[in-house]
Amino acid sequence: MSTDTRDYYEILGINKKASADEIKKAYRRLARKYHPDLNPGDAAAEKKFKEINGAYEILSDPKKKQEYDQFGETPFEGAQGFEGFSSHGFDFRADGAEDIFSNLFGNFRQQEVRLRGADLSTRLDITLEEAFHGVTKPIKLTRTITCKSCGGSGAESSRICSKCHGVGSIKQSRGVFRLSQPCPSCNGAGKIISKKCSACGGSGSGVSSSTIKVRIPPGADTGSKVKLRGMGSAGTMGGPAGDLYIELRVKPHTTFRREGNNIYVDVPVTIIEATLGGKIKVPTLDGTVTMTLPPGTDSGKKFKLKGKGIPNRKTGARGDEFAVINIVVPKKVTKKTKEALEEIGKAY
Ligand SMILES: [Zn+2]
Ligand SMILES: [Zn+2]
Repeated sequence: MSTDTRDYYEILGINKKASADEIKKAYRRLARKYHPDLNPGDAAAEKKFKEINGAYEILSDPKKKQEYDQFGETPFEGAQGFEGFSSHGFDFRADGAEDIFSNLFGNFRQQEVRLRGADLSTRLDITLEEAFHGVTKPIKLTRTITCKSCGGSGAESSRICSKCHGVGSIKQSRGVFRLSQPCPSCNGAGKIISKKCSACGGSGSGVSSSTIKVRIPPGADTGSKVKLRGMGSAGTMGGPAGDLYIELRVKPHTTFRREGNNIYVDVPVTIIEATLGGKIKVPTLDGTVTMTLPPGTDSGKKFKLKGKGIPNRKTGARGDEFAVINIVVPKKVTKKTKEALEEIGKAY
């Protein structure tokens, strides 16, 4: 039925009448000889070791042995995961099925073991001046980092998992399908820790608190995010660390209001200044400037100070400032002032 006939008895070097005890002895002798720990880096020995284990898995199980003796090797008993399926004497493989399944299950060992660490996020308040100039701020960060002693494996020493023989996966029947599943003995690692790393207690990671400096470029606004690659939680088993996202909040300012990259400032003027015009002082992010107020300026009128706003984060081009005129009336009036104001009233 199968073209890939590998005789399990041949693999173990025994004849078909071998007793359970003889099978076990043959397996032990060969497994010891080809064990990957004793043949490091020897791919041929590893392949042989897997074959031996595969043969022993069948021949050591009376039910499987009986089936094997009766029907021979079924085509899905391959060494590496899903290889198709057979039913009622047909031997067929759906086109593309193998690709699909190897994509789904073939690489899970890697995924199972080397996981990327979680992303972290935090918030940071800055002042408008800091947003304007850019600033470097310290941030206290508590996160898991990879153990330096064991590189994240959690092991000081380990041995090959005996359930999956280092593959990290075992085959499981799902109806007519046989799918690879992560090995429950070693959680897909293929190895079992025989001595835990003393530095991290076997977890592969530790908690670290540190203060990092975060550079915030000019132009940051509320909701801006700064991404620090690799400053998130440590990955599993030496997997890459996650990223740290810092969400910024620009605190309200007592003088300036911000809209995008433009800023607004209320400028109090007297009735006299508003009526007759004159030089007035206007605060900007670059310092106070003097502006000429034209005669007859109404309250609420806006004057644009070009290029006095916040820089664009990407281009550096600055927004504008708008000086909003706010006429302030005197609160205490003498008889003389009253007469003068009444005189002004006639001008309306
Ligand atoms: Zn460690
Ligand atoms: Zn295992």
